[in-house]
Amino acid sequence: MTLQGTSLIGWATVTGSRGEIRAINPATGAPLDPVYHGGSEAEVARACELAETAFGVYRETTLEARAAFLESVADEIEAIGDELIERAMAETGLPRARLEGERGRTCGQLRLFASVVRAGEWLDLRLDPALPERQPLPRADLRQRHIPLGPVAVFGASNFPLAFSVAGGDTASALAAGCPVIVKAHSAHPGTSELVGRAVQRAVEKSRLPEGVFSLLFGSGREVGQALVADPRIQAVGFTGSRAGGTALMRTAQSRPQPIPVYAEMSSINPVFLLPEALQARGAQLAEGFVASLNMGAGQFCTNPGLVIGVKGAELAAFVEAAGSAVKQSAGQTMLTPGIHSAYEQGVDRLASNGKVREAARGQVGETAHACQAGLFVTTAQDFLTEAELQEEVFGATSLVIECADVSEMQRVAAQLEGQLTATLQMDDGDLDAAKQLLPILERKAGRILANGWPTGVEVCHAMVHGGPFPATSDARTTSVGSAAIFRFLRPVCYQALPQGLLPEPLRDGNPWGVTRLVDGKREA
Ligand code: NAP
Repeated sequence: MTLQGTSLIGWATVTGSRGEIRAINPATGAPLDPVYHGGSEAEVARACELAETAFGVYRETTLEARAAFLESVADEIEAIGDELIERAMAETGLPRARLEGERGRTCGQLRLFASVVRAGEWLDLRLDPALPERQPLPRADLRQRHIPLGPVAVFGASNFPLAFSVAGGDTASALAAGCPVIVKAHSAHPGTSELVGRAVQRAVEKSRLPEGVFSLLFGSGREVGQALVADPRIQAVGFTGSRAGGTALMRTAQSRPQPIPVYAEMSSINPVFLLPEALQARGAQLAEGFVASLNMGAGQFCTNPGLVIGVKGAELAAFVEAAGSAVKQSAGQTMLTPGIHSAYEQGVDRLASNGKVREAARGQVGETAHACQAGLFVTTAQDFLTEAELQEEVFGATSLVIECADVSEMQRVAAQLEGQLTATLQMDDGDLDAAKQLLPILERKAGRILANGWPTGVEVCHAMVHGGPFPATSDARTTSVGSAAIFRFLRPVCYQALPQGLLPEPLRDGNPWGVTRLVDGKREA
């Protein structure tokens, strides 16, 4: 397909009139055609108007129709074929195997949400029948279901050009909930965004849904992104990116006449606790697993292990030695954008120039224009506890090892941490007591706690939590990965004493949709 360099506003393809956006091949530094132009306020408003109109119809689609639409989006993405992978490789520098895996994850995610929609449990149907004879007061008939919030703005992520971009997790969960979606494409991969956007547009058409169910806008975050979040028709926001970008959107959303929720996934350093017995028994193996996780995708994962905490001594020194020699052999992998590469270099320089931090190892200098030179640094718990800047995310393959005096100092470090997506315990049987002491602290810090694994690699399933307290995310009560992500875009409505003919169908007597319901506190199939 020839890329046209246009926004997709409902059925219309629109050439923007604002500043130029052009992808750059991060491996070569070469600009890629076509040129995209940013959308205007009028184009943002048009997309919002169409989304608002579509909402009335889309939110009342049957479970089957909505599920079939999500499956159709997946089919259309697969039908693009290799062109999608080739374009994404050119725009992101990510290797083919990674992008093919990501496409599988993207389509799998859409199909997972289709199955969730069909099962209907997300409606959370509750019925408390009337108790007219109850003393001292009768109870009215009360019934509850969840309804979608309304049009949702989604910001594509740079580090997942497929799985967290135009038809990624935020879009899939919002569409599953019954919300039309307007995507602000990430400026780093506009061609990939257009290809996927057109696939979604085709699925909307084939499913005979209103055009406003999906729009795709190009443009700068500060103009198009801000205008979108400020538009009164937008009712929620999904975002993955920097802390600065996420908090700017939170402020905009909060200062609207009607504030709206922003589900922003921002920054996390994913601490790994090396408990003493595990460190003693298998330090070399831990070093190997850690460096493999650190280097995955040039460290450009939100779950990258950016902090390692252990008790100072010969075992931790041996771990640093082994991890350091693996880091030294690490090839420099191309980073996603020149901007991310330069932010990474600044972050590493900040660590390297801190007098309380020691450099343990640097990786190979890469051969491409924007390659990530891996890094491993060491500091003491005391210095970490007093220097807030040592907690700042360095987005890329760099990690900081914290030397603690003992296990209780490990707990103090844990207690001082900001909110995280993950926290990992490397532990053996003899570490159980130390782990038990850490667990209640870590539960308050992280969305996912792992034992004897590595945080990179996030399963898309029902029990996953990809979330956590600020700054990992803007709302610790939710997840952006897995089927529970649908709840971000729903809210409960209670219907009191409504006649049968006025009640939404799934709440009527006889359970016409056949969805599991909670009737007078008991599950009913
Ligand atoms: P970003 O700069 O936050 O950009 C993400 C999206 O938000 C882009 O579409 C951007 O628009 C928009 N945006 C940025 N600032 C905005 C603002 N003030 N108002 C409205 N929209 C705004 O993130 P990035 O480009 O992906 O990467 C930059 C840094 O983010 C990385 O170096 C890394 O530190 C961090 N990051 C973290 C994660 C994570 O999962 N933890 C993932 C990716 C990135 P434009 O098109 O104008 O850029």
